[in-house]
Amino acid sequence: SQRTLVLLKPDTVRRGLVGEILGRFESKGLSIVAMDLRTIDGETADQHYAEHVERDFYPPLREFVTSGPMVALVLEGDEAIEVVRALNGATDGRKAAPGTIRGDLSLSNRENLVHGSDSAESASREIKIWFPDLG
Ligand code: ATP
Repeated sequence: SQRTLVLLKPDTVRRGLVGEILGRFESKGLSIVAMDLRTIDGETADQHYAEHVERDFYPPLREFVTSGPMVALVLEGDEAIEVVRALNGATDGRKAAPGTIRGDLSLSNRENLVHGSDSAESASREIKIWFPDLG
């Protein structure tokens, strides 16, 4: 079994899609290990997106992820990292496959509703940022 850090981004909360999206993860069989509604500051965004801070798309992304509360989650299950990324779909909601969260619910490559860690190393790094008290 594996753990992954999942964020339901501010667009999810604003659009009232927390139940819909969390329900998909739960229905798939993933367990909730930690969950918190949280608004982050720019410094935390920079830590979380350390690999993107120099990218052209980062300033508006930083603005977006600090614009309101997100639901931060640690989900656990067999191959949870890959399973969550498959459920999330491609980064750009306009190109994500129907049946995925982004493919069904997003029309944007920035406001794409969810984040999921992209590797075991990222999961471990991100869980420490968001839930430092978790083992
Ligand atoms: P995440 O890491 O959030 O699960 P991802 O791995 O699909 O998404 P990354 O390439 O890591 O995507 O980009 C991180 C986030 O930055 C994306 O989820 C999206 O919100 C934003 N982003 C990525 N590329 C672009 C872009 N070209 N224009 C605007 N925003 C972008």
